[in-house]
Amino acid sequence: MQLTRKAKTVSTDSKPTLGINRRQFMKGAAGATGGIAAATILGNGMMRKAEAADYIPHNTPTEIKRTICSHCAVGCGIYAEVQNGVWTGQEPAFDHPFNQGGHCAKGAALREHGHGEKRVKYPLKKVAGKWQKISWDQAINEVGDKMLEHREKSGPDSLFFMGSAKFSNQACYMYRKFAAMWGTNNVDHSARICHSTTVAGVANTWGYGAQTNSFNDIQNANAIFFIGSNPAEAHPVAMQHILIAKERKNAKIIVVDPRFSRTAAHSDLHCAIRPGTDIPFIYGMLWHIFENGWEDQAFIDSRVYAMDEIRKEVAKFPPKEVEDVTGVAEKDVYMAAKLMAENRPGTVVWCMGGTQHHVGNANTRAYCLLQLALGNMGVEGGGTNIFRGHDNVQGATDLGLLFDTLPGYYGLSTGAWKHWSNVWELDFDWVKGRFDNNEYLGRVPMNTPGIPCSRWHDGVLESAEKLAQKDQVKMAFFWGQSVNTETRQNDVRDALDKLDTVVVVDPFPTMAGVLSDRPDGIYILPACTVFETEGAVSNSGRSQQWRQQVVQPLFESKTDLEIMYLLAKKVGMAEQFTKRMRVDGNIVNLDDIQDEINRGMWTIGMTGQSAQRLREHTENWGVFDFKTLEAPGGKLKGETYGLPWPCWGTPEQKHPGTQILYRTGRHVLEGGGNFRARYGVEHNGTNILAEGSYSKGAEIQDGYPEFTDKMLKQLGWWDDLTADEKASAEGKNWKTDLSGGIQRVAMKHGCIPFGNAKARSIVWTFPDPAPVHREPLYTTRRDLIAKYPTYEDRQVHRLPTLYKSIQDKDLSGKYPLALTSGRLVEYEGGGEETRSNPWLAELQQEMFVEINPADAAERLIRDGDDVWLEGAEGGRIKIKAMVTPRVQPGVTFMPYHFAGVMSGESLEANYPEGTVPYIIGESANTALTYGYDPVTQMQETKSSICQIVKA
Ligand code: SF4
Repeated sequence: MQLTRKAKTVSTDSKPTLGINRRQFMKGAAGATGGIAAATILGNGMMRKAEAADYIPHNTPTEIKRTICSHCAVGCGIYAEVQNGVWTGQEPAFDHPFNQGGHCAKGAALREHGHGEKRVKYPLKKVAGKWQKISWDQAINEVGDKMLEHREKSGPDSLFFMGSAKFSNQACYMYRKFAAMWGTNNVDHSARICHSTTVAGVANTWGYGAQTNSFNDIQNANAIFFIGSNPAEAHPVAMQHILIAKERKNAKIIVVDPRFSRTAAHSDLHCAIRPGTDIPFIYGMLWHIFENGWEDQAFIDSRVYAMDEIRKEVAKFPPKEVEDVTGVAEKDVYMAAKLMAENRPGTVVWCMGGTQHHVGNANTRAYCLLQLALGNMGVEGGGTNIFRGHDNVQGATDLGLLFDTLPGYYGLSTGAWKHWSNVWELDFDWVKGRFDNNEYLGRVPMNTPGIPCSRWHDGVLESAEKLAQKDQVKMAFFWGQSVNTETRQNDVRDALDKLDTVVVVDPFPTMAGVLSDRPDGIYILPACTVFETEGAVSNSGRSQQWRQQVVQPLFESKTDLEIMYLLAKKVGMAEQFTKRMRVDGNIVNLDDIQDEINRGMWTIGMTGQSAQRLREHTENWGVFDFKTLEAPGGKLKGETYGLPWPCWGTPEQKHPGTQILYRTGRHVLEGGGNFRARYGVEHNGTNILAEGSYSKGAEIQDGYPEFTDKMLKQLGWWDDLTADEKASAEGKNWKTDLSGGIQRVAMKHGCIPFGNAKARSIVWTFPDPAPVHREPLYTTRRDLIAKYPTYEDRQVHRLPTLYKSIQDKDLSGKYPLALTSGRLVEYEGGGEETRSNPWLAELQQEMFVEINPADAAERLIRDGDDVWLEGAEGGRIKIKAMVTPRVQPGVTFMPYHFAGVMSGESLEANYPEGTVPYIIGESANTALTYGYDPVTQMQETKSSICQIVKA
């Protein structure tokens, strides 16, 4: 395909104008408050000035709907006011257990979704360079025909299914199932580029890859340690809980971040590490902890395996070495360790500043090691509070919307496929027959992770011989995900040019719809926002909330589930797709989907939360305690809000949910636990089960393996099963027994179904069993590469992956500034939705780079100047300079929410009419570069290099 790029250069001053006149107030509010306090200032009065009120008779009755903010995983509750089917007002829920009336600027602007001037309003197809309106029938028929055509020519893996962290849990589950029925693992979503390294690192340390405690529980902490996390902007309402701990308990706040962030402004100690040096910093803290005997040896002896291996690694990082590598003064590293040691329990919080590195999985394991050494796990006020970004990125991860697993982290082994075929009541051979069963580069597609969302473009551009699948990706769905969140935007655009068929399914066109100048082969299908449908979403603390439908689908939009069903029908797999579910017209019954989720998700205990139980919790959110999250009385007495998993057994067994993971101080039936026995019972001849540690009331008062039918028989507990349960449990284990009998009996005896083991300090199946510092692929500290080199180039799943061949090229002379990136309070993710919201668009109108005054002075750059920033792979962007000591000399920072301008060229002409967001700007990812975690394929957006010159 030959394409001509439109060379229309715009200055950053000529953005689309807003046409609304509250700018001064809104800008003032943002400047004064930033994140957390904006909530109360922007709250109610603003929202009541709804444009739609003009059309509603004065005395029209108001219906109140309970909804959940869609902009981060705190999960704030909002009351939406609806009159005559129009969303006319909103209130933050003062009786909600997460936010108690707080919300940030994004939450305050939610009602705009109910109007959506900038949305895609009907299905569109590009013909000869022009967007044309088409019918849904035509759209489904043509898209379905293309799917079948590519399947026929290039196999099922020639399609890529990008999914969404905005789907409800029910839609997440069905989208993963859709990909499975289609016969591919080329399905993924934005967790790949936010917390995939957390999931891998943390799950492989103690069992589950999720936040261990809750936002509310932070109120119990005596120390709060942030590394690569800036909740004052990214999770503003979480700050409520943090500031309560600070005010009521004098909790110490330590912030480790290359920038002096808004969260750092609340801290007792800020350590500005050089980007990409998390492991040396943590090892530096552990050096002092071990040196001073501050570790919790009793905890380590009973609940941690191989901490001695870590001591050996830590010994390589004495104070001087840590100062040299991280750039943080010896005394500050010591103080960070001391504050954590003297103020227990303390919690560790991290976000994408920690995860988005090519050593991301090792970073997350290092953070866990700090908590294990201090004995801070499984207790109130402790744990690892890993804040997630989108409203349902936790649920999407749990439900397997990932390239490397089926729902519930079952993986992709044949056993996993058999389990889910059993759940679906489908013949395993039929499911297998949907896949390409040939072998490529020694890998069989059905059992091999697919193409990750961080690198779908490599699946398009890389030669077919280098891919572990039959052919390149020819057709891609971008369903609720912005591609400007991926690094290497020039390659992303080349891949969009090259794909035969692009299908965007979204309320907005997103960058997948407009980045390429291609004249045809592209469709945009209007999906509803989350407020035009209902379903459950999981917040970062694993609590599920049943979001009520606020308004009917706007324009010609359809729900995600309906679009999936129409496509399944078109390509001939609807019968299998919905075998166990009622379908009314094209609407699949939500309760039946939830029932099937409960039928299969035994691994994480996402089995006890029926649709009815979840609805009951949301309808009664006011009865749950703001600190403990438990209902103190009434019908839901003892239950934890949102039934956070594990909510063991069947819904009828009424498990209360688990707010704090691995908490031995509680009985399993009250949310207690211990570390999971996931890696066998011994390693190199050494026992790895817990020693003398067990959860309250356990009849096995020591470590034990995971429960199976055989174990029940050995223990003499088999006859506790009913006859039906016995029939189901025979030959099965706690993860595959669909009756839940094995889990029920284990819990009856006070035991945790997944066993009781030690956390492991080393992950012997990973490239680096103990976390190892490796300099970023692009680094300004070339002198450290010999000592801390990256990996050799290697094949990771389906894609060749470069490491050493990139690091070997010295580009530090041309690009002398370290480059990192992050989030702003006003926008979310790729920003298409929030930059199209006039109320938010007023708050932040320019894409910018933060540069230290010393670096700016050297370049004769003044605050507010236009500058060109060029990344190490040649990606150039024209943006504003923000000259600020917030970043250290030699370090620069950019937000990543902007798009719509590329290398100085406006992309406005590529948008369908009326859909250009109020704010467009250069994407940080045009300048950000190669670099992928070898376990998860996380991209390295937090440590690259660049040069900046005045424009
Ligand atoms: Fe709450 Fe997050 Fe929404 Fe802000 S963006 S209102 S903190 S859920």
